[in-house]
Amino acid sequence: MLNKPKIIEKWQKINRYGRPQTPLITKKIAIHYTGQADVAGWRTVSYFNNVVANGYKVNGKYVYASSHYVIDLDGTIYQLIPTSEQCYATNSANSYAIAIEVATTGSDNHYTDATYKSMVHLCAWLCQYKGLDCKTDIITHTDVVGKKYKLCPIYMVKNPHKMTQFKNDCANLKAGKITLDKIVNCTVPDYDSNKAISPNPTASPLPKMIRIKKDVNYRNAPNFEDSSIIGVAKPGQVFTVVGLVKRSDTDMYKLKSGCYITTNARYVDGIY
Ligand SMILES: [Zn+2]
Repeated sequence: MLNKPKIIEKWQKINRYGRPQTPLITKKIAIHYTGQADVAGWRTVSYFNNVVANGYKVNGKYVYASSHYVIDLDGTIYQLIPTSEQCYATNSANSYAIAIEVATTGSDNHYTDATYKSMVHLCAWLCQYKGLDCKTDIITHTDVVGKKYKLCPIYMVKNPHKMTQFKNDCANLKAGKITLDKIVNCTVPDYDSNKAISPNPTASPLPKMIRIKKDVNYRNAPNFEDSSIIGVAKPGQVFTVVGLVKRSDTDMYKLKSGCYITTNARYVDGIY
């Protein structure tokens, strides 16, 4: 049995624009992209929960939009709507599909390694939980609405063989043929399909220090929950690394100060 991934619950209040409490009987899982590359997924969570849910008009018309899950660039999985209720994401499939909005990166809107791993874990686990088949029941938004209406998620629609690989990864994880730490992101430009079955990828050595590239939270515990944030490290700052915490999503460095910080290369450079 596959373990449930770590999910941060950001329950949306009951409201007519995103969480009308209409019962959902799940038959499919629909993948979406949040629309603009390199925008953090928590912003999408905030848009749904704090803007749309309060009644938000565009061109004089209320926006009706929500998603069961949002996956962030660092692999964090947020849940906004219970899977027993419908959301507003997938047009005519809202009545039977769980929706997952996924943050993307780069000009082609591919996925970070952490995001890809979380997508595979969440989809495989949802298929197990809801009795679905990864190869036939994971769909794209475009599968429902057609290419003329929307390319969503745009990377998967433009690279259908990657969508097939993604579904295979989900099926293999669900079946126990591969473990989560062996999942390889097939959406990166230099993807080598041979690596997908490599039994023992070489672990990278621990850097002596890290240099901050972008504003990033440092924390008093090795997790990505709001409650562990104790400050923001600024670009150019350097910290001494004393350890590594292995996590199911993104690993974290333990710093000499006793704080923890992400290993995500978007935010930190290792100094060896
Ligand atoms: Zn979509």
